[in-house]
Amino acid sequence: MTVTGHIFGYYYICKRKVWFAAHRINMENGSELVALGKLLDETSYKREEHGISVEDFMNIDYLKNNIIHEIKKSDKQSESSVAQVKFYLYHLHLRGLDLKGRLDFPLQKKSVEVLLDEKDLREIPETIKEVERIIDGKRAPDVANIKACKACAYYDLCMI
Ligand code: SF4
Repeated sequence: MTVTGHIFGYYYICKRKVWFAAHRINMENGSELVALGKLLDETSYKREEHGISVEDFMNIDYLKNNIIHEIKKSDKQSESSVAQVKFYLYHLHLRGLDLKGRLDFPLQKKSVEVLLDEKDLREIPETIKEVERIIDGKRAPDVANIKACKACAYYDLCMI
């Protein structure tokens, strides 16, 4: 199964979430939080080009002035969001495109620059291998019981 940007980002939240998403166990559609995220994605920065797909595993929100942008509803899971943008920058770098990234938080009216450095170039391929190892597992990893569970689309699946 292919590691996508979203799945790579989930690794920084919960390994069980990685496995569910990769195995297309999808409860996101019914989640109000996810619906809000999608609405923001569709209505924010209307003048920009949306939804750039690269080789079916990268879905970049938009590109402007050689900067790739990812729109998020909140900066609460910023480690995961930064990792997602770095994942895109890494794969673009491998294809000869050295770009910058930016996380946009329209509700908070702020944005954060994301750059790829030498450490990322060493660590991202290792993390991708770890994500693949989780995905290849026959069973989902154990319930994490973390703060993020409360807002997770898989809450009912894990906690009830
Ligand atoms: S509810 Fe918690 S344990 Fe379950 S997938 Fe979400 S974050 Fe992971």
